[in-house]
Amino acid sequence: MTDIRIGNGYDVHALAEGLPLFLCGVKIDSPAGCVAHSDGDVAIHALCDALLGALAMGDIGKHFPDTSDEFRGIDSKILLRRTMGMVSSAGYRVGNADITIAMQRPKLAPYITLMRQTLAEVMGVESGQVSVKATTTEKLGFVGRCEGCEVYASVLLIKD
Ligand code: MG
Repeated sequence: MTDIRIGNGYDVHALAEGLPLFLCGVKIDSPAGCVAHSDGDVAIHALCDALLGALAMGDIGKHFPDTSDEFRGIDSKILLRRTMGMVSSAGYRVGNADITIAMQRPKLAPYITLMRQTLAEVMGVESGQVSVKATTTEKLGFVGRCEGCEVYASVLLIKD
């Protein structure tokens, strides 16, 4: 019998002028980036939380604490690779992942294909299994005021 598990993840980071912006492992040309202990890739953080959620193994803060020097400024792709190791160790593979990034600016449409390819490569899946979508919030709320970036992620894990 096939065992399938669903997971969801959510993350927010504040934006500040002059910091680099990384989303889904891709460097984005932006005047502002995420304030963070790591490289601030809020999209990968939400994705890791979705994967860990599907495994009922806690969250990214538990496995990669932001109080640890080991993770200061770390490339979040490394965190995703390690999280995928936990997925494999538990005997699961990824069916698909779906990510929604809420950000007022810059426009992310030009980066979507590279984001999907980058995540798929790190996760060891086909890019057709990874969806990345971007939306503004019509200038409403903290996202609309460009104070932060918000990401939702869902994943399906399969054990054959
Ligand atoms: Mg985070």
